[in-house]
Amino acid sequence: MNVMMVLEMAAQGFGDRVACVSGEDSLTYQELYDAAGQVAAYLRASDCDYLAMLDISSLALPIGLFGAAWAGKPFVPINYRLAEDQVAALLPRIQPALLLTDATHTASIPGGVAVTPIARDAFIDMARSAKETVKPDWHMDPEEVAVLLFTSGTTGAPKAAVLRHRHLVSYIFSSVEFGAAAEDDVALGTVPPYHIAGVVSVLSSAYAGRRVVQMPNFSPGGWLETARRERVTTAFVVPTMLAQIVNELQRTGSANLPRLASIAYGGGKMPAPVIESALSLFPETGFTQAYGMTETASTITVLYPDDHRAAFASDDPAVRRRLVSVGRALPGVELQVRDGQGNVLPAGQRGEVYVRGEQVAGEYVGKGSLLDAEGWFATRDAGEIDDEGYLFLEGRADDVIVRGAENMSPGEIEDVLVRHLAVADVCVVGVPDTHWGEAVAAVVVLKPDATVSVEELQGWVREHLRSSRVPQSITFTEALPYNETGKLLRRVIRADLATGH
Ligand code: AMP
Repeated sequence: MNVMMVLEMAAQGFGDRVACVSGEDSLTYQELYDAAGQVAAYLRASDCDYLAMLDISSLALPIGLFGAAWAGKPFVPINYRLAEDQVAALLPRIQPALLLTDATHTASIPGGVAVTPIARDAFIDMARSAKETVKPDWHMDPEEVAVLLFTSGTTGAPKAAVLRHRHLVSYIFSSVEFGAAAEDDVALGTVPPYHIAGVVSVLSSAYAGRRVVQMPNFSPGGWLETARRERVTTAFVVPTMLAQIVNELQRTGSANLPRLASIAYGGGKMPAPVIESALSLFPETGFTQAYGMTETASTITVLYPDDHRAAFASDDPAVRRRLVSVGRALPGVELQVRDGQGNVLPAGQRGEVYVRGEQVAGEYVGKGSLLDAEGWFATRDAGEIDDEGYLFLEGRADDVIVRGAENMSPGEIEDVLVRHLAVADVCVVGVPDTHWGEAVAAVVVLKPDATVSVEELQGWVREHLRSSRVPQSITFTEALPYNETGKLLRRVIRADLATGH
């Protein structure tokens, strides 16, 4: 097994189709295949053990991902937004490496590490210099490492998650239909290469035979404009991007995107008001929510378009609530919810989510596999599964607030507060409290021109939840901190509250 199987099938099945568009430039699937072969030869002739990428999306992303797989060297996309010293701390862990990057970073590689920079344009030119199609000679060892992805390292040094060929290939084979894209299907790619969704979308688009238009710098206006110009039919966004697109449309009017058949989203929690507005603003579009993580080679559960529309149209609270569910397990993926002692909990009870399946890697460099003897991986996400298999997430297990003897999830309180008409966004955290151990604190962003008192918001929570859930303190702020892939940075909020900001 090798992820190159995906590109080989694409080149044979629809070699003339455009695979990737970046600005004015593009590659067909056959050209991508030839370029990957050229990169593989280059890497094999070098003394590099890794192909790292410290750059925004460009044609170099699919070429590098497939070329490294062909050469049998791990592909290592690195967050190009990291500070110089953070990058400098990662590079010694992946040497000797060829580092695909842009002109600014080329100049700032620290001394003393075996990292050879190659500028994006030079890399693409080298890849395109292929004179003939190289014969397929990649390894088929499914255990070979395809991709290393550094986690964001919110606590301690970033961990390098290991994804072997079998994890990525089994995900693609089980979740994407070969050649499913129509000739004129166009996907808009906005997720950066250093996120698992950015990596996997290259593979799933190739397997489906879809053209990807890359958009490295997201803005809501730019996204709408590109989607119209390029006649985009499918897009993936993180929830913060969808929230910005919704805001933009509420300001400027209709989306006017009749060809946009599907929008998939995931990577972080989607607030109910955002998806509700999106369903109204894009009445013809099918929405798909994906939940997954780096360690599971991306998506493990999906909430399909029909689930969205059925929940949106329903008066039954149990069905309506599914709009904020992350959906059901993909075929081949099993889920369990367990309590703190490891006992499997029945439907409707909250605990930690565990996952098992061919695509589940659960491994880090230097730490080995974290799967238990039966192959289960502890996600660190808290949640519950309803009696029809829909998973509801309630934040990270570490974010659970323990007030007195009571455990509560911040997500539950946030879901109530964000439904208040004055509230645009909210984050709830536990803060140290001498009496209770932890107290509930909320940080609220108001909608433009809205006003509301702390007492009214506290009363709103009391009306909908038990009184122990009422935030003891509520502060107002202009915007909450998210990372660029849509994750709310609770630790930043906790730190700000602790220092009184
Ligand atoms: P990462 O490996 O950086 O993609 O982070 C994975 C984590 O993001 C998961 O463990 C969840 O906590 C969160 N996450 C991913 N997708 C979703 C989603 N659809 N809804 C809520 N949280 C999500």
